[in-house]
Amino acid sequence: MNFAETDEQALLRRSVAQVAARYGHAYYLDKARSGGKSTELWQQIGELGYLGVGVPEEYGGGGRGISELAIVCEELAAAGCPLLLVVVSPAICATVIARSGTDEQRRRWLPGLATGELTMAFAITEPDAGSNSHRISTIARRDGGNWVLSGRKTYISGVDESDAVLVVARSEDARTGTLRPALVVVPTDAPGFERTLIPVEITGPEKQFALFFDDVRLPADALVGETPEAAIAALFAGLNPERITGAAVANGLGRYALAKAAAYATQRQVWGVPIGTHQGLAHPLAHAAIQVELARLMTQKAGWLYDTGADAGEAANMAKYAAAEAALLALDQAIQVHGGNGLATEYGLATLWGAARLARTAPISREMVLNFVASHTLGLPRSY
Ligand SMILES: Cc1cc2nc3c(=O)[nH]c(=O)nc-3n(C[C@H](O)[C@H](O)[C@H](O)COP(=O)(O)OP(=O)(O)OC[C@H]3O[C@@H](n4cnc5c(N)ncnc54)[C@H](O)[C@@H]3O)c2cc1C
Repeated sequence: MNFAETDEQALLRRSVAQVAARYGHAYYLDKARSGGKSTELWQQIGELGYLGVGVPEEYGGGGRGISELAIVCEELAAAGCPLLLVVVSPAICATVIARSGTDEQRRRWLPGLATGELTMAFAITEPDAGSNSHRISTIARRDGGNWVLSGRKTYISGVDESDAVLVVARSEDARTGTLRPALVVVPTDAPGFERTLIPVEITGPEKQFALFFDDVRLPADALVGETPEAAIAALFAGLNPERITGAAVANGLGRYALAKAAAYATQRQVWGVPIGTHQGLAHPLAHAAIQVELARLMTQKAGWLYDTGADAGEAANMAKYAAAEAALLALDQAIQVHGGNGLATEYGLATLWGAARLARTAPISREMVLNFVASHTLGLPRSY
């Protein structure tokens, strides 16, 4: 058993951290507040091969795995730039297409997703189905050789900066009439595809949208996974990477908060000694540091399981849960350590509260992880 990162992973971590430090939270905040996009950072990490680190080499990627992409996510967030679209475009969409797409889909999408020149959003959440994705009602109907998509999605990130959306829909089995999952790639400029901004209190350049598909016509090759079984496999191929990289973002935010808190608590003097001298401040920070490190360990385990082809579901869920809770704990204590300054824009802590708080709700809510652990890990009867 070896918990040390490989030399290559350590180099990747250092390199991403160096690039991210050149941008930092001030850049992220400036883009968010001015309505801009983090395009320069996105392009640079694309050109340097960080976005495509997990994409197969034959399609222009680094040929590594989700563990490496999680390193990229963590280091960006640790520099105050928690980019949601890394969790979506390369982590979910590129993984799904690499594992379950046709050769044509791989050639069409993977090189661009690897360099960041192409971006794909991911849409599973629906207003009526909510966390119960078995109830999604977006339908892909066959029309001759083509598809016609109708339905709605909600809280879909980054659609305004994406070339296409990987939509989780359902299609009717021609033989039995039952509805089975179907994943389709929908170009964002397809006629009948509309979006509406959902304003949220997250200070970040990436926006969320409600999507409407009004009989959107798609070619036959829009379908990812040629059979319903393949579509289910494709979907599951993408959900664990989403949880693992989502956890990595939260871990990075936890580290960001702890680093700021430790620096401030060392330098700030109120009664003639640094405030970090007081155990009332030091112990909650130390406790948060332990929680963040435990979450990082579980994230590393989940990444390793996924990359070695083992079942990563339990570890990915646990990592996401632990990382969200640890990040919130660390950020809250970092704000407390800063006194009034904790809420000042200048100190760059409260500005990340929305991003960290999101991790408790998405991509899977805290309660749904607990449901999973209760039934899968503990064998308890399902409550829903
Ligand atoms: C900023 C942001 C970005 C997002 N980006 C995307 C994206 O890019 N793509 C995408 O598809 N989705 C995205 N989402 C959606 C997100 O994944 C969902 O909001 C989340 O999974 C919760 O689903 P819901 O909002 O429908 O809540 P609901 O399902 O309505 O749940 C409401 C509450 O009830 C709880 N609950 C529900 N069922 C149970 C149960 N059986 N037992 C116990 N508690 C339960 C939930 O945990 C939650 O606390 C995003 C959301 C946000 C806020």
